[in-house]
Amino acid sequence: MAVSAPPAGVLGMGPDPNWIDNFTTCIFKQDYDTAREVLRSAIARGASTHLAEQYAKVLEEFLTKRDEVENPVALARFEECVVRETSSGQGRGLYVPSYQTWGAQLWKERPLAYIQSPGSRKCVQVCCACLVPVGSLASQLKYMNLEPPPGSEKILLSTYPDEVCPDGFCPGQVIACDGNDCSEVFCSQSCRSWALSESSHAILCKGRLGPKSWSALQSLELLAIETDSEHLLLLAHHVACMTLARRSGQSLEAVKDRFASQFASAPWDSLAGADDSDTPEERRRCMSCAIPLLETIFEAEDLASGLLDSELLSNILGTFELVNMCISLPHPLNSHADVADYLTEELAEALAKMQEPLQSDSESEPETEQPTSPWASARQGQLFENIIGTALCEALAFTNHSCLPNCRIEFATASQPEAKGPGLWLYSVTRRPLVPGDEVLMAYVPSVVGQPLQVRQRKMQKFGFTCHCRTCETDRVLESEPVPVVTSSGYPQP
Ligand SMILES: [Zn+2]
Ligand SMILES: [Zn+2]
Ligand SMILES: [Zn+2]
Repeated sequence: MAVSAPPAGVLGMGPDPNWIDNFTTCIFKQDYDTAREVLRSAIARGASTHLAEQYAKVLEEFLTKRDEVENPVALARFEECVVRETSSGQGRGLYVPSYQTWGAQLWKERPLAYIQSPGSRKCVQVCCACLVPVGSLASQLKYMNLEPPPGSEKILLSTYPDEVCPDGFCPGQVIACDGNDCSEVFCSQSCRSWALSESSHAILCKGRLGPKSWSALQSLELLAIETDSEHLLLLAHHVACMTLARRSGQSLEAVKDRFASQFASAPWDSLAGADDSDTPEERRRCMSCAIPLLETIFEAEDLASGLLDSELLSNILGTFELVNMCISLPHPLNSHADVADYLTEELAEALAKMQEPLQSDSESEPETEQPTSPWASARQGQLFENIIGTALCEALAFTNHSCLPNCRIEFATASQPEAKGPGLWLYSVTRRPLVPGDEVLMAYVPSVVGQPLQVRQRKMQKFGFTCHCRTCETDRVLESEPVPVVTSSGYPQP
């Protein structure tokens, strides 16, 4: 790269008055060597230490980014993103090697394993593969042991505009699993055949597990409910997916790496302490109940035997706790204008009462006036709680948090055009343009975005998380400094 001569100037006469403009121009042309010389010359001609430090920092950041782009130690690749160790030494992060425009899709994936939360399972019947609610208002009420009012069978659950109904999907359709006594249902034939060959249901279907294994799975679900640890149930589905990967010919080591060791982790008992009853002893007791159940669930699976090691299972639970994704899908009955016409006040109250346990799980604090009664909620399309669940996703697990995120995460169920096929999908969309080398950052608690520091910290703490993102650290510094911190104009905010 040609190095042009530093701007003419006379020693002792001060730096070239245009040096900052020249420097910035070089930076944007990625001519870092010339930028370095401009800076060096300005310093030599007496630019203030403060300015020199500021612009050296700018150069340093661009050079670091260039190095990261040219020599990426990519540990994995997810479409537009690569996984690398973060420069801050805080584990792994997701980076973009190339420019991404606003609204660009960075990656799309099915979670490695996912479940509908046990509490949500009691309140809404969903497709076992993609978690979309199925059937009609009548079938949903029956599912909840409530008497459906006449005509409610005409209110069909569908996420389609009426005129769009792709092949294989039909509004209101409920497809039974057909496994021996299996009570799971599907939205479509394609979700059903995918689930029975490629999802955890391929192993955990009641029609495929022996009676002893099936009852162990029921006991594990009860244990998960009693101990308020739905991750114990997710663990069974995770092991099922690992077993499927083994069946497809992947080695034990490859499966352990993809489903466990690539992720941030810690032994599950070492992460205890969310409240007084959550102790390491209690978690170890819980594990000692869960492991024999898992052994029984998978007793017919030779390929699962290498996966039921207690240390591995404890670390997988630790990973769930550190990097799981909470699934939250809107309930289609809330957007059905006619639903309230079919609901009596008693019925609306019964529905609200059944869903009460789900409300504590929603992350948003009520900021607007709440409707006065369940029936009023139904009128306003707010009666039905979101479908909730928990998942472990690969690309997502490497996406670190920022209170000023540059991407958002969206869900797509099989019936939506954004899905690539049957089952549940997640994808990431940029919230602003990203330059090469930028780390992709999401808000773990979306409602923190745009809030003041104290509100953000309070919301994050509800999730057991003290935020140290760059935005929070800067706000803390600004709060503790009586004098505003000087920043140079033209400094590109990362
Ligand atoms: Zn489905
Ligand atoms: Zn089944
Ligand atoms: Zn923060």
